[in-house]
Amino acid sequence: MIYFDSAATTKPYKEVLETFNKLNDELFANPASSHLFGSKANTYLEKARNQISSLLGLNDRFNLYFTSGATESNNQAILGYCRRHKKEGNKVITSSLEHPSVTNAFKELEKEGFEVIYLNSSKEGTISLNELENALDNKTIFVSVMGVNNEVGSIFPYREIYKLVHSKSKAVFMSDLTQMIGKEKVDFNYIDMFSMSSHKVGGLKSLGLLGVVKGINIDQIIYGGEQEGGFRPGTVNMPLACSLATALRINLSSLDERRKRAKEINDYLRSKLDNNPLFEIASPIGGTPFILNIILKHTKASVLVEALSKREVYVSTRSACSSHSEGGSSVILNMGYSEFDSKNAIRMSFNGLEQKGVEQEFIKIFFEEIGKIKSI
Ligand code: PMP
Repeated sequence: MIYFDSAATTKPYKEVLETFNKLNDELFANPASSHLFGSKANTYLEKARNQISSLLGLNDRFNLYFTSGATESNNQAILGYCRRHKKEGNKVITSSLEHPSVTNAFKELEKEGFEVIYLNSSKEGTISLNELENALDNKTIFVSVMGVNNEVGSIFPYREIYKLVHSKSKAVFMSDLTQMIGKEKVDFNYIDMFSMSSHKVGGLKSLGLLGVVKGINIDQIIYGGEQEGGFRPGTVNMPLACSLATALRINLSSLDERRKRAKEINDYLRSKLDNNPLFEIASPIGGTPFILNIILKHTKASVLVEALSKREVYVSTRSACSSHSEGGSSVILNMGYSEFDSKNAIRMSFNGLEQKGVEQEFIKIFFEEIGKIKSI
C-alpha cells in the first residue's frame, strides 16, 4: 500500500496504542471519582495536560481543554468567544480558506446577527495582510485564521496577523492549528486561542485540544457536570489524553527529520509533475512540504483516485471532511481557479515516515493509471 493521505489522518504510533491499552487496562477509573483509584487517574490526566503544554512550548500561558476533536475545539472557540463578547462589537473576521468546522461556525454566527468578513485568498492560498488591516476596526472582536491549509498546505503569516489584530483592534486571534502542529514549528506567543487534533499527529481519533490564553473568557457550548472545571463537561478519557502526550513526544522530536523526508518526496513529485500540460500544481512554493495539491487539467480526479485506490495507492480529491458533498473544493475555487479545476484537484499528503523509494513507485503507478483514463 502507498498511503499519501496523512492530512486526512495519520497512522497512530505503536507507543500511542501501548500507552492507551496499558492505562485502559490498569487505570480505567473515572478521573472524576472521589476514591483513590479515581484520584490516581486524575493525577495521570493532569500529568498529560502538563506534558502536552510543555511539549508544545506553551509556557504556562494557556488553559488547555480536552475535547472530542478539532471540530469541537473550533466550534467552542468561535461560538464561545463571540457569544460572550457580543456586546463589545459584532464584527468578526476569518479567511475564505478555512475548514468547514470554522466556516460553518461563522455561518451560525451570521444567523445570530454578527457581521462576518471572509478575507479573500491570494493565488498562493493565504490572505492579504492589507485586506486584514483594512477590515479591522473598533467593532471587531474576533479574528480566526488557520495556520496551515489542509488542502494545499499554504502557511499563513500568523505572527503578522497577531501583531495587526492587536495593534488595530481589541480583538483576539484564534488559529486552527490542526494541520500546522506536527508539520511546522509554532511560536505560541503570537496566538490567543488555538485548536488541534490528535489523529493528525500520530495520535488517536476523537481527541482534540482547545488552548485559550489565561484571562480570556469564553462561554461554554456544552452543559453538564464539573469536568474540565465545568467548562467542558463529560467524563474525560484519561488514557486517550495520555496517548496524545506520547504521540506529541514522538511526533515533535522527529519533526526536522520527518520534514526533510516529506520535502524529498514533495520535491520529487513536483519535479515529475511540473511543466506538464496535464497538471497544474496548486500548492504554493514555500508551503509545508507535507502537502502537495495538483490540479488535473484533462482528467477527472474522482476517476483517477478510484483507479489508484484499486492498486492500494491512497490520495484524496479534497479534504476528507467534505469529500462526499457535491461540487468542487471551495479552497481551490477561492484561490482563483475555475469550477472545473476545483473538482479535479488531488491532494497527496505525507507524514515524513514513508519508506525509501515509495515516491518513485507512486509516480510509476500514477502515470500508468492516468494513461488508461480517457482525457476530458
Ligand atoms: N481543521 C482542519 C484544518 C482539519 O484539517 C481538520 C481535519 N480534517 C479539522 C479541523 C477537524 O479535525 P477533527 O477530525 O479532529 O474534528
